Amino acid sequence: VIADGRTRSVIGELVAANRILANAGVLDAFGHVSARHPSDPTRFLISRSRSPELVEAADIHEVHLDGTLAEPGSHHPYIERFIHAAIYAARPEIAAVVHSHADEVVPFSISREPLRPVLHTSAAMGATVPVWDIRDGFGSETNLLVTTIEQGRDLARRLGAARVVLMRGHGFAATGRSVFEVVKIALYVPRNAHILSAALALGDDPVALSDGEIRALSAIDPDAPSSRRAWEYWCAKAGIAVPGGAT
Ligand code: MN
Repeated sequence: VIADGRTRSVIGELVAANRILANAGVLDAFGHVSARHPSDPTRFLISRSRSPELVEAADIHEVHLDGTLAEPGSHHPYIERFIHAAIYAARPEIAAVVHSHADEVVPFSISREPLRPVLHTSAAMGATVPVWDIRDGFGSETNLLVTTIEQGRDLARRLGAARVVLMRGHGFAATGRSVFEVVKIALYVPRNAHILSAALALGDDPVALSDGEIRALSAIDPDAPSSRRAWEYWCAKAGIAVPGGAT
């Protein structure tokens, strides 16, 4: 498959996103990041089954929105690609998805304490973060992994119109309108969870961002140069070149 310029650009961002999120510990041996195909919205781009720290452009493959491979048999895919497939199918405006098992977030998936944005850099996660429990639809004997498109669709329904959904005893899925935005959200959801846990440990009732503050922060263009300079910082930290060259 010969990729056009826009697709090559998204693949470059996707490779950088894998390295950045692995470097930050948001992804480890497991977890993944994907982007909707820029010239075919019925497909998305995601690595073959490989740890994010190691992903290169040649690892990126196309997958349909039911989780089947565009080129069947071409590679060994991630078992949980259905998380991405079902979210892209349900939410046409979503251009990128991260699935992570970050430790800081999981307590909010197994307790009644809701995860909410308390940190100004975390407004894009939205005021409400639903929790999906695979037991509700699939019983108490699953392996907790999203291994079928039906399970992916159930997760996407729980996500609803939100930006992030927690997965009970497992992790979270975050969505963005660009690869840049989903990297930022995936970096700050665990930090926000860490800060909220620390505030809860102080025994007080932590103050969350108001709906108006979330709206005002969300009005900042995520693709403005002042925002996108973060690529340069993240890539320097991860020891990789900035996708598309210097900003
Ligand atoms: Mn997982």
